[in-house]
Amino acid sequence: MKFEAIAVENIPLIHNGDNLPSIIYENIEFQDRDIVIVASTVVAKAEGEIFRLEDITPGKVALEIATRSGKDARFIQSVLSRSREVLVEKPFMLVTTLAGHTCVNAGVDESNIEDGFLLYPPKNPDASAARLGEELEKLSGKKLSVIVTDTNGRAFKIGQTGAAIGIYKIKPVKHWIGEKDLFGKVLEITEEAIADELAGTANLLMGEGAGGTPVVVIRGLDYYYNENTSIREMYRSEELDIIKKGLRCLQKKN
Ligand code: GDP
Ligand code: MN
Ligand code: MN
Repeated sequence: MKFEAIAVENIPLIHNGDNLPSIIYENIEFQDRDIVIVASTVVAKAEGEIFRLEDITPGKVALEIATRSGKDARFIQSVLSRSREVLVEKPFMLVTTLAGHTCVNAGVDESNIEDGFLLYPPKNPDASAARLGEELEKLSGKKLSVIVTDTNGRAFKIGQTGAAIGIYKIKPVKHWIGEKDLFGKVLEITEEAIADELAGTANLLMGEGAGGTPVVVIRGLDYYYNENTSIREMYRSEELDIIKKGLRCLQKKN
């Protein structure tokens, strides 16, 4: 068994309004069932999610959190503007975004953008993935999947990895439940986070710095092609999310 991960070279610096699908299409020859993995940073740039820190006016809640955490109230306001819930205020903002993704700073980035600017995450990453996918399929005539990624930390381990935040035509979770192990025992709980594993794989070629490689194509792993999927399939239901429940309890106590 084997598959390929190919970094798409020659992608320029991306600006507001750039036609990202055609820029990608010009730099790689697609094959059917390629999985196109795109860093949210360039998706957000093309969608114009670029803001000047000095233009942001913090509201009351942002000012209160800033007093408690000692961080820049304007930056906190930018995080709040993309969040539906704050789970941790200090030493970092852990929030659930409007799209339902839980991560630090709502994915608002200060890196890989000019000084003094903030890059907000795409508002609806599933819709961004679908737009990219549909356009790339039209241009190439091939069946494609797309994953929009960001770099996220994990709760219990040091080190950030690539994480899927929006998907198009790929099954994000493989349910092993009901399948047998090597000894014939039936698996009862294992669900494999395919979309995050692929995001992590792509991230190895993207890196976090000046690499200039925001697009990676995974070829030869086509078992996960699936229409009508959403990143929401990966988010634990409120009822089963005991970590979030615990964080809410901690907030009440503080
Ligand atoms: P994030 O994980 O989505 O927040 O993206 P990162 O900031 O970690 O960047 C991922 C990769 O994309 C790195 O290789 C960056 O150098 C690259 N990158 C970021 N912005 C651009 C851009 O505008 N053009 C190009 N070619 N690469 C970029
Ligand atoms: Mn990021
Ligand atoms: Mn990154």
